[in-house]
This record gives sequence, structure tokens and C-alpha cells, in this order.
Amino acid sequence: MADQFNKIGFIGLGIMGKPMALNLIKAGHKLAVYDIRPEPVEELVKKGAERCLSPKHVAEISDMVITMLPDSPDVKEVVLGKEGVLKGIQPGTIIVDMSSIAPAVSIEICKKVKEKGVEMIDAPVSGGEPKAIEGTLSIMAGGDLKTFEKVEGVLKAMGSSVVRVGEIGSGNITKLANQIIVALNIAAMSEAMVLAEKAGVDAESVFNAIRGGLAGSTVLNAKMPLILDGNFKPGFRIGLHIKDLKNALETADELSVAVPLTKGIMEIMQTLKADGKAGDDHGGVIRFYEKQAGVEVRKKSREKDYTDLFPENFP
Ligand code: NAD
Repeated sequence: MADQFNKIGFIGLGIMGKPMALNLIKAGHKLAVYDIRPEPVEELVKKGAERCLSPKHVAEISDMVITMLPDSPDVKEVVLGKEGVLKGIQPGTIIVDMSSIAPAVSIEICKKVKEKGVEMIDAPVSGGEPKAIEGTLSIMAGGDLKTFEKVEGVLKAMGSSVVRVGEIGSGNITKLANQIIVALNIAAMSEAMVLAEKAGVDAESVFNAIRGGLAGSTVLNAKMPLILDGNFKPGFRIGLHIKDLKNALETADELSVAVPLTKGIMEIMQTLKADGKAGDDHGGVIRFYEKQAGVEVRKKSREKDYTDLFPENFP
């Protein structure tokens, strides 16, 4: 393995972070790991990673630090907090935050780390757990070009597509765009399928009739088979999508950009959250429409097999 990092720190070993860290080990990198939960740390240590006691400890023994955490406050705490990365870091180290957070927070953290002679890239991902396991995530990176070029090889061990989209924060702007498109695709599909079902036309037949035409999409192919099976196991939780839409709405507000459709799908997801469904897969948006219309979009027969379809069901 030919790159310049002696040890890579990895903080946040959840649904996404754990398989991503495992792929770095598989690619021959030496890892130092930390999570507030001991179980995934234990698993990584068994695969050869070094156990750390705090983000500060990770930074002390790493020359690149990756974070994969839920939201903006978590990344702030881990990087800038009392026992944070910045407390242990050496100048010249590169931080790559791969969490989906508010772009403004990426910029704010980057300014603070630069004061310590540290570079930062924001590099959120798309693809969900299956692609994190396969190492085929889509990675959208923002930051200084020279810094990006230094970490690109490491990112390629976790993703099949690694694209630099601009300066710091632009990775997370791209991720927000991705999340708006996915959420509205799910809403459009749900609205249409519930209308068909209410009109007495089998939604499964509608799906088969339209999926090869212009209305066909990755989202339709990924979510319809799950919906027809009544399978709302996440996947990507409605609660996490609400977090992304909140960041999108705040960013739109800061930029004075009208995003009426994003506001609409946010209302729907908030209603589902109030209904106790924040932990469901975001394909569960259809249940908002089903409840209003008093119909359910489910498979009537077990004859059709969808294994020929695009296998993803994640954003
Ligand atoms: P997760 O909740 O499964 O994992 C987060 C991990 O961070 C957990 O292991 C948690 O213990 C750890 N953590 C939280 N606070 C910490 C702290 N202060 N110090 C150390 N560790 C801490 O979340 P996830 O699904 O892995 O998602 C991570 C990020 O990736 C999120 O921003 C999410 O929006 C994004 N994302 C998720 C998916 C998906 O399908 N799950 C897809 C694309 C992007």
C-alpha cells in the first residue's frame, strides 16, 4: 500500500463507520479507533486496530483523522471539545469529516482547525450500509485541492466514486442536494401509488408498467419492492432524513433560496415522526399518504420476484 499515512484515526463506528473502517484495514492501512460505544471498538481491535480512549488520543497517534458521526453538534464536540481531536493533533495532520452535517458547520470547524496548521476535508457519502460494506460508496468531497489529492487514495478504499466538488462545505452542500432529490422522489412515488391504489388500480401493476419509462428511477426500483412487502426496516431512518432536511432548510434560508417542496416533505416526515415512525426506513413516507387515503400499497400476489431490480434501498 503506497500512501503517506502511517496511521489513520477513525472516530464513529456506527452503521456506516464500522464497515468503512474495516475496508481501510482490508486495504492495508493501520487504524486507531474510538467510539463512545465499546462494542464496535472491540470488533475493530480484533481486526488489528489500536483502541483509543478519546478523540484526543486518536489524534495524538494519527496523521489523518476520519470522523463518521450523526450530526453537526457531534462533529463539533469530537473535533473541538475538551477531549477533542484538536487537543491532541499535530500540524500537518488532515481531518476528513465524512458525516452528513450542516455545510456552515464544516466551514466553521475548518477555520478553527486551520489555526492549528491542520487541513480539513468534508466528504459525506451516499450509498448506505450495503455500499459501505462493499466499499462502493459515492463520496462527495469539499476542500483544498492539494489536501484532497493527499487523501483521495484512502477515500477510494471506501468508495467507488470519489468526486471533489469544490472548497470546504461543498461536500455537504452536494449531500443536501442528494437528500432533497431522494426525499422528493420518495414523496412523488408515494403520492402517485396511493392515488392509483385508491382508484382501484393495483400499484404493483402500475410499478411494472412505468418503471421502464421516464418515471422509472433508482428510488422507484429500490423502494417499491420494499413497500409492496410492507418492509419499513431501515435502511435510512426517517429521523436521519429529517436531520438532513433541517440542514437543507437552514442552508436555503441563509442563501434566501425558495425550497417549497423541501418544506413540504419535511412536514410529512415530521408528521410521521410524531406518529412514532422516526425509526422506520424513509420508504415509510408512503404511510403518510396511505393513512390519509385509507388504502395500503401492498403486494396482492407472491408471484413476482424483484431480484432483477436494482438492489439498493438506501440514499
Ligand atoms: P450511527 O448512529 O449508526 O453511527 C454513529 C456512531 O457515532 C455511533 O457508533 C455512535 O456511538 C458514535 N458517536 C456518537 N457520538 C459520538 C462521540 N461524541 N464520540 C464518539 N463516537 C460517537 O449513524 P450512521 O448511520 O453510521 O450515520 C453516520 C453519518 O452518515 C450520519 O451523518 C448519516 O446521516 C450519514 N449517512 C448515513 C447513511 C445510512 O444509510 N445509515 C447513508 C449515508 C450517510
